[in-house]
Amino acid sequence: MPVARPTHVDIDLAALRHNFRLVRRQAGAGRQVLAVVKADAYGHGAKGVARALESEGADLFGVALLEEARELRAAGIRAPILILGGIYPGQEAGFFEPDLIPCIFDLTTARRLNAAAKSAGRILGCHIKIDTGMGRVGFFNGELQDMLPELNKLANLRIDGVMSHLAVADEPRHPFTAEQVERFRRALARVREASHRPRFLHIDNSAALFAHDIPECNLVRPGIVLYGALPSGHFAGRLDLRPVMHWRTSIALLKTLPTGSGVSYGHRFIATRPTLVATLPVGYADGYNRRLTNCGEVLVRGRRVPVAGTVCMDWTMIDVTDVPGVQVGDEVTLLGQADGQWIRAEDWAEKIGTIPYEVFCQVSKRVPRIFKS
Ligand SMILES: *Cc1c(COP(=O)(O)O)cnc(C)c1O
Repeated sequence: MPVARPTHVDIDLAALRHNFRLVRRQAGAGRQVLAVVKADAYGHGAKGVARALESEGADLFGVALLEEARELRAAGIRAPILILGGIYPGQEAGFFEPDLIPCIFDLTTARRLNAAAKSAGRILGCHIKIDTGMGRVGFFNGELQDMLPELNKLANLRIDGVMSHLAVADEPRHPFTAEQVERFRRALARVREASHRPRFLHIDNSAALFAHDIPECNLVRPGIVLYGALPSGHFAGRLDLRPVMHWRTSIALLKTLPTGSGVSYGHRFIATRPTLVATLPVGYADGYNRRLTNCGEVLVRGRRVPVAGTVCMDWTMIDVTDVPGVQVGDEVTLLGQADGQWIRAEDWAEKIGTIPYEVFCQVSKRVPRIFKS
């Protein structure tokens, strides 16, 4: 293997395991934990993350795509996998593998899956999704009366789970969550009246797990908290989470610019003093967001230093004038912890007007993930 450029993400598996144990405690004895590892485990690397969580005792995994489920199986993951993101025409047979669980959102898809299962001589366990107010996917409560008898006719599908998703759980005082839970309860009653016996009842994402108690559920579906970030600012200071992703690079070049010199495209940074600029081999093609131009911060030798000028595709410059002893090859932390200091995904997200989820997902495939146990 040729030596790679010094830009990589360290994945702290001890932190991941710590966060999982926190989730497990919060879920309590009566609930199973489905660890959401969609989108390559929110950019952390699904194979390594799922392996660590499976050995820590995760009961199920959740992914968005059938392709993601197959990737986990290829990596040796044996736990059941719930595919949250639908069943597209032509994919039906892909769900016949043991313990790959489809989510049913609509009758047309259910019929198509049932027909495929029937011709393969299979009975498929599936979860049905209720749209209690997310306005995205699932059956509305008002549809259930007509839908359930139709689902009953699909002899090759078995309803093993009933689930819904919360729209505003990350705002703990928002009254709409209680309304969604109430709709979910009514849906469960209807499902049972139609003589289905779902084993799994679930609605909790990370925010709901830590902000609401929904006693009838026996499975929780946390994602973001496993990775050590908060569902929203409402949880600040309340959860003992440890960030898992630490994005690092090192200084490729140092140059001193005289007062008045410009840096990078558009000369959006002009040196107002003789300025020591360090060039980093990382850019927006790696997911270092271009909106961090002139406002991002990184850690060098225990100090926070600012991004200088426009973030380029493959390069980013920082102003290290105030870092004593700075040298080519010094480690630079873009996200995560170094020398007891933090660049948190929450801070970064606020600067560029997004959420930690997107910050993690944006770290591109070009950046190797290195798992540290
Ligand atoms: C992504 C997702 C989750 C996890 O949400 P977090 O906010 O990351 O905990 C749970 N359920 C469904 C259906 C999801 O799509």
